Amino acid sequence: MSGSTRELAELSGPALATTLTADSIIVLPVGSIEHHGAHLPLVTDLLMADEMSSRVVDAAVETGLDVWRMPPLAYTKSDEHHWAPGTAWIGADTLLATLREIGASIANTPAKTLVFYNGHGGNVALLQVALRELRRLHGLRTFLINVAVPAGDGVDGPDERGFGIHGGWGETSLVMHLRPDLVSLELAERAVPDQIADFTRIGFAGKPVQFGWLSDDFDSAGVVGDPTGSSAEVGERLAAQLVADGVAALDEVSRFFPGAAR
Ligand SMILES: [Zn+2]
Repeated sequence: MSGSTRELAELSGPALATTLTADSIIVLPVGSIEHHGAHLPLVTDLLMADEMSSRVVDAAVETGLDVWRMPPLAYTKSDEHHWAPGTAWIGADTLLATLREIGASIANTPAKTLVFYNGHGGNVALLQVALRELRRLHGLRTFLINVAVPAGDGVDGPDERGFGIHGGWGETSLVMHLRPDLVSLELAERAVPDQIADFTRIGFAGKPVQFGWLSDDFDSAGVVGDPTGSSAEVGERLAAQLVADGVAALDEVSRFFPGAAR
């Protein structure tokens, strides 16, 4: 193989065919190009998926895991931000078809394990569908790791009332750590939808009743959360936690064979 790269596309085809084995784990970073309010760049989710997956893969390789990273998927299912200039999205049908065909391409290598490393919450439901689809169609072992940035709870960060999901404290802090030059914190404003935060049954994931929403349902800025008080120091702490969590997850992925004593 050529050098010590863990970027799959930097190998030649023949080198890939002889380097990968059935134990190799392929990580596909999944981002998005979408509106994140005035204080964050459109590339936020892609940046997090790309940069954090790179750190996770490098750290996992150091522990002895055979992990490889594919170039990221930039354009994904951002239809909740369809109204905002700059959002560049593909629909659910197109994304599922794309993932099916990327899965077919992975199945054509010696590797049999594909991990989505996802930076965009709007992709989660569809990626979960794709996990089963690729297992059924191609026999791959498939996994989803989400870039889990926490919401502020009033103790650690501002109280985002469970709605710190888009452009809020955690995400803004992480981007301030990764690319401080792209953040305009002076434009950040609290955008927690207090008008619905008291509902106990209906809400985002974690509540028993889900609802269909578009990001301009809540606030004209298209942010859902409270980015005020974000900092690069918090982002650095979150990044270190994401690397530790990612490495631990990939370690389990390497040993996880449901129903089979391998
Ligand atoms: Zn985001």
